[in-house]
Amino acid sequence: MPGFEVFGDAERKQVNDVIETGVLMRYGFDGMRNGHWKAKEFEIAFAKRMETKHCQLVSSGTAALTVALAAAGVGAGDEVIMPTFTFVASFESIIALGAVPVLVDVDDTLTLDPAAVEAAIGPKTKCVMPVHMCGSMADLKALKSICDKHNLLLLEDACQAIGGTFEGKPLGSYGDLGCFSFDYVKTITCGEGGGVITNNDAYKINADQYQDHGHDHIGNDRGAETHPTLGYNFRISELNAAVGIAQLGKIDDILALQKKNYTIMREALSKVDGVTFRRVPEGGVENYSFLNFFLPTESLTKKAHAALGSEGVDACFYWYSNNWHYINGWEHLRDLKSMGALPAEIRNQIQDLNSADFSKSDAWMSRTISSLVKIGWTEDQMTARAAKMVAVISEILKEKESLA
Ligand SMILES: *Cc1c(COP(=O)(O)O)cnc(C)c1O
Repeated sequence: MPGFEVFGDAERKQVNDVIETGVLMRYGFDGMRNGHWKAKEFEIAFAKRMETKHCQLVSSGTAALTVALAAAGVGAGDEVIMPTFTFVASFESIIALGAVPVLVDVDDTLTLDPAAVEAAIGPKTKCVMPVHMCGSMADLKALKSICDKHNLLLLEDACQAIGGTFEGKPLGSYGDLGCFSFDYVKTITCGEGGGVITNNDAYKINADQYQDHGHDHIGNDRGAETHPTLGYNFRISELNAAVGIAQLGKIDDILALQKKNYTIMREALSKVDGVTFRRVPEGGVENYSFLNFFLPTESLTKKAHAALGSEGVDACFYWYSNNWHYINGWEHLRDLKSMGALPAEIRNQIQDLNSADFSKSDAWMSRTISSLVKIGWTEDQMTARAAKMVAVISEILKEKESLA
């Protein structure tokens, strides 16, 4: 996820436009800003690229999830179904609103298992939040039909899969709301930033108000605006938005390079007996930011991951242990460690995450290795990397045969 790899003159020029006027805020100061409305400009361009009616920029991907949930009316005691394999922002955003995360298993897509989602639906369920981890997506068609049947919101976390598609639609645009992160390690970056997309006019108005203290943004006297709702401050700054405009202009080149580098690795690993790949749901196209594959057993996967590291194949991840992307690494959530008291709804309703059975997730995650796909890797470097991966993994898998 390489936005930072391509930071250059276009980003500097955008930021300079802002620096020269000194108007670092996205609202007001009309006379001083020399016509620059970077946040607004990015929102219009991003909505267009994502083929949705609206975009609301905010200060982070975590803020985007919080604002999206709030905008759709999720509040205290509402339950939001989320996967065991994700980034901590999923439960942070839910808990921030007094809502209750309900964790369910992932399947061989490494995203929400639709059957597990359906089994977890109860009277308080309000939203299903699939997370398109590591460049590929959840089975959105199955999830949408479950959401329609039970009258639930479908909120896509597309922070790691920007530019991927499902049934021809950009990821994030298929559900009721979609969220993106533009933090420093994402496919395109603002330094820090996030975005919510939706085709729903009411959600857009709510998101706009919620992320700026409830301001209605009507008229041009900020001090005199009314506040139809309580809100918070999740605003993005003009400096960050300016970087995003330049990065968005590069997204299709980034995606093409990711696909090229991914394909070199995938074709090489396809020839190794015992390596299988993460399932991409029918109708889906990855954004190719990671190559995700399975080995036959947990112990072989652990060995292969360690060997890849010691042989100098960098940027390979084993999420299952010692990593904060999987529930095994979330002791603070499992034990509900917070500085002050959490809302009663959360304490009373949350499942016991220490005893919950996530063996179905474990079965996939314990056999998963993900290689990051950088775009700065040259074709020669990619070919050498792929050959090294094949050699290291074949050697480990051979050990298994000799044991058998
Ligand atoms: C990065 C990320 C987020 C949060 O984004 P921040 O901008 O870092 O707050 C949320 N979900 C997923 C899946 C992410 O990868």
